[in-house]
Amino acid sequence: MSNCIFCKIVSGDIPSDKVLENDKFIAFHDLNPKAPVHILVIPKEHFQSFHEIPAETMKNMTPFIQEVAIKMGVEKSGYRLITNIGENGGQEVGHIHFHLFGGTKLKWEHLTDSDPKNLF
Ligand code: AMP
Repeated sequence: MSNCIFCKIVSGDIPSDKVLENDKFIAFHDLNPKAPVHILVIPKEHFQSFHEIPAETMKNMTPFIQEVAIKMGVEKSGYRLITNIGENGGQEVGHIHFHLFGGTKLKWEHLTDSDPKNLF
């Protein structure tokens, strides 16, 4: 069996607080929410990150994510989608996931410790 924790959520071996599910995707609450609304959206099929996901899967994922936003009531107030990719992207779980944040005015802070103006 796969060691991937999100594959285990897909198979039901690890419980999750599901928001929406169809034959291809699942959305569930993040265990450690960073905003009043913090949902993870994943394809059931295992892909390491955004860099490996086929365009066809992304195409189908778009309306699913939009439906999650509507279900969470943030489609009008606005929300943020983030997918972390690899080490520098800060990805901790190696099964592509989109973080959907909302429910409050989100901050947009510095993303690095160094001053970006000094990098170039
Ligand atoms: P990332 O750093 O982009 O890979 O994000 C991984 C996210 O998965 C983090 O926000 C974790 O809180 C979340 N997470 C890890 N395990 C679980 C789990 N079993 N159920 C829900 N969220 C999880």
